[in-house]
Amino acid sequence: MLLPVLSFTVISGLIGLSASTELRRADYTATCQKIAAAVSPASKVYYSGSPQYIDDNEHWATTGSQPSACSFEPVNAQDIGIALQLLGEDQTPFAVKSGGHSVNAGFSSTPGVQIALFSFSQVIYDSDAQTATIGMGLIWDDVYSQLQQYNVTVVGGKNTGVGIGGIVLGGGYSYLSNQYGLSVDNIVSFELVMPNGTVANITSSSSPDLFYGLRGGFNNFGVVTTVTLKTYTQSQVWGGLIAYGSDQWDAVNNAIANFVSTVTDPKACLYSTTDYVSGVTTILTILFYDAPTRPDDIFDEFLAVSHSAQDISTRTYLDLIQTSPTNASSGLRAMFDWVPIEQFTTSMLEMVKNQTLFYGKKVSESSGFLISYDIIPLLPSLYSHSDTPSAFPSSRDSGQGYSFIQVYYGWTDANDDEVMLQLGAESAAYMKQFAVDAGQDVANALIYPNCAPPGTALEDMYGDAVSTLHSIRSAVDPDDVMSLTGGWRF
Ligand SMILES: Cc1cc2nc3c(=O)[nH]c(=O)nc-3n(C[C@H](O)[C@H](O)[C@H](O)COP(=O)(O)OP(=O)(O)OC[C@H]3O[C@@H](n4cnc5c(N)ncnc54)[C@H](O)[C@@H]3O)c2cc1C
Repeated sequence: MLLPVLSFTVISGLIGLSASTELRRADYTATCQKIAAAVSPASKVYYSGSPQYIDDNEHWATTGSQPSACSFEPVNAQDIGIALQLLGEDQTPFAVKSGGHSVNAGFSSTPGVQIALFSFSQVIYDSDAQTATIGMGLIWDDVYSQLQQYNVTVVGGKNTGVGIGGIVLGGGYSYLSNQYGLSVDNIVSFELVMPNGTVANITSSSSPDLFYGLRGGFNNFGVVTTVTLKTYTQSQVWGGLIAYGSDQWDAVNNAIANFVSTVTDPKACLYSTTDYVSGVTTILTILFYDAPTRPDDIFDEFLAVSHSAQDISTRTYLDLIQTSPTNASSGLRAMFDWVPIEQFTTSMLEMVKNQTLFYGKKVSESSGFLISYDIIPLLPSLYSHSDTPSAFPSSRDSGQGYSFIQVYYGWTDANDDEVMLQLGAESAAYMKQFAVDAGQDVANALIYPNCAPPGTALEDMYGDAVSTLHSIRSAVDPDDVMSLTGGWRF
């Protein structure tokens, strides 16, 4: 059948694009072509239809993903500098992606030029300095795997598939955080491509302002190509995943409450998720001890509770990271929220149970597919592992590092985005108020920017540091090039 002659607007509408979007895409494509012509031959620009374009645009959640006009895979810092200057001149939007796990719209995706850092894939171990220099195109699995041969590791993500970039530029909660702090506490230097194209090694002494800002301030100051982190000796670890049915919920909650009130050994860590899918609740708990065997009295109670499955053993650190089935929930629309807690108590855990059941049912009324409430207890000494100030956490004055409840909602229909964000925020606000009413000093605790939903006020994540961060950003980016990319903007 022949199509009648239709106007450009009608044809574009039929394929889901408006005329203005099409025209903008043509402009963006012109910038893609300029970048391709200006950079070295090894750095490549890809377009829709190529496998590299698909990989470059892939994100863990569909809310964090969108088709770009082209993707750009630079092979060196100088080519990133050239691209940033051209993007600034043309005012073309762009995004920088490391592991693509940000779920917030536009944080590492764009309709313009998608910069993917896959070529920055080195792991260089320096045994004298006890550091590892790591490319920002890797995921943590690659890093743990490559460092295993030296019996060392670094403080990075605790779930399989997460990228280096968002963790080292945002905070970084690890199974090792009770011992060594967050990822940002363990950074020795960054290689940064500034918005004007200058490439610099940033350390606490060479550029204290940028070193401060980059540790929590994400993509506000340019594009980071590599990061150098402290390394620690790593033996085999004990632990893994244990799964319980909802009939054991109270018993698991008791075990968690007993664990947090008695265990102060920083090598012991616990991460317990309650997943609600179609009316069925499963509790997935990861037990971790940083040695091949655990002390007898730690975790006994968890092992004694009747469970439906378990995968617990003495294993490599990488193997333990990969026990967490987070890849299984990729490909959904998604939101995170984050509730700081001083101490988990049985009444608080009971409240989280009620929230899971209440909101699990509520989101199922629309396209809600999976909700999770993660219980993540940490020692109060968490924020005491660094003397060098950072953008996150910007305030360590009280010495109090928070445990937290992580809220995750996953759904399928874009029309439900608003209602899901609203429900998640409502639940997080309720839980925070519950903690405050229970006498916990969390009313002004700063929210982890990597797990804050879209629209979170900068002050709620960065507190009094916002104006300092704004000044650092203005000094390094007077032409406001980085405002062409998404994320938290100072
Ligand atoms: C399944 C899952 C597991 C998670 N597990 C953990 C965990 O164990 N610990 C934890 O602390 N958090 C965790 N998170 C939250 C995680 O910290 C964030 O999603 C983080 O932003 C992911 O980093 P990424 O590099 O994969 O993401 P991306 O989406 O690629 O990047 C996130 C942000 O950082 C910016 N960015 C990335 N690289 C660069 C760069 N080189 N230069 C400049 N800007 C850059 C991006 O532009 C974007 O704004 C998890 C999230 C998910 C979905």
